Amino acid sequence: MGDVGANGGITDIFNRPLRDLRISVTDRCNFRCVYCMPKEAFGRDYQFLERRQLLTFEEIERIARIFVPLGVSKIRITGGEPLVRKNIETLIAKLAAIQGLDLALTTNGSMLPRKAQALKDAGLTRVSVSLDSLDDDVFKLMNDVDFPVSGVLDGIEAAAAAGLTPIKINMVVRRGFNEGSVVDMARHFKGTGHIVRFIEYMDVGETNGWRMDDVVPASEIVTMIGAEMPLEPAEPNYRGEVADRYRYLDGSGEIGVIASVTRSFCGDCTRARISAEGSLYTCLFASKGYDLRQLLRSDADDATLAEAITKVWRGRDDRYSDLRSEAAIGPPRVEMSYIGG
Ligand code: SAM
Ligand code: SF4
Ligand code: SF4
Repeated sequence: MGDVGANGGITDIFNRPLRDLRISVTDRCNFRCVYCMPKEAFGRDYQFLERRQLLTFEEIERIARIFVPLGVSKIRITGGEPLVRKNIETLIAKLAAIQGLDLALTTNGSMLPRKAQALKDAGLTRVSVSLDSLDDDVFKLMNDVDFPVSGVLDGIEAAAAAGLTPIKINMVVRRGFNEGSVVDMARHFKGTGHIVRFIEYMDVGETNGWRMDDVVPASEIVTMIGAEMPLEPAEPNYRGEVADRYRYLDGSGEIGVIASVTRSFCGDCTRARISAEGSLYTCLFASKGYDLRQLLRSDADDATLAEAITKVWRGRDDRYSDLRSEAAIGPPRVEMSYIGG
């Protein structure tokens, strides 16, 4: 069984340390991306969380402070769409005050024109922005709420102007939808300092109707881009980096590919996730979380919470992507918009 990692933090059954924490601050979103929250599935019957079910900013800060001594050095705020959570910058300020923490946020970019400067002022240093195409028709087909590309590009510009850099731009590639936008995206952002990361469409949740045929393998993406703009592989920035990096031979920057399906990276997975209602998940593909909110709202002290988290992490044996083919028939999996990407 895992014990104490090199940084004094905790490790799991496969000796993987706990390093990254993704915190979802809402399960709501102003988009209905077809691969994440399809309209049919998140229609009238779907029950979003009520406000009292969400962790408060104070509860999130407390949890974050408990996680840091257990080994966490990086926290990413996500959702749903994190910028639809009212006064999100108040939470950012609380987390930015924690010593030694790398703080990041993933957003669909639509509200960045309004929010970028407030986020920067609160202490955020960088953002990742999701954008699946530069073609309005394709993008609207993917976000399914008629949101134009220009709205996200304005958001990226606002983030850059506020100094939230380097900006990573995440594009989920789904065959039959946007593989024709891959080279355009690379070309558009080449030389801007922003790093586009192409993500293989994953079988997260139960609602997106994923099929293996929908996945455009990372190797195909690199070949498509490299044919026009020659690339060479670059070294990872750190052990366990999920994106494989490639740099342009002409020195004008780099791209990343996240081959979560065709080249799983469970062996190096150091991520825990907390859902908007405070459940702890040790894998993106988990079907069940551990209820931290109930402990937070009891009279349990910080040491008790740390013990509970430690027990969960030490018992962690998840490696879903490695086992994908067998696990495909397993129990229902939690949705990406709930657990946070
Ligand atoms: N709403 C924010 C956004 O879109 O950036 C944050 C939450 S979203 C769930 C986080 C990331 O997960 C996004 O980059 C999104 O594209 C990605 N994502 C969602 N569903 C996915 C899927 N089935 N496969 C791969 N990536 C997915
Ligand atoms: Fe919303 Fe992000 Fe999911 Fe798209 S990927 S529906 S923007 S949470
Ligand atoms: Fe980590 Fe689970 Fe993804 Fe494997 S499948 S890399 S354990 S989140």
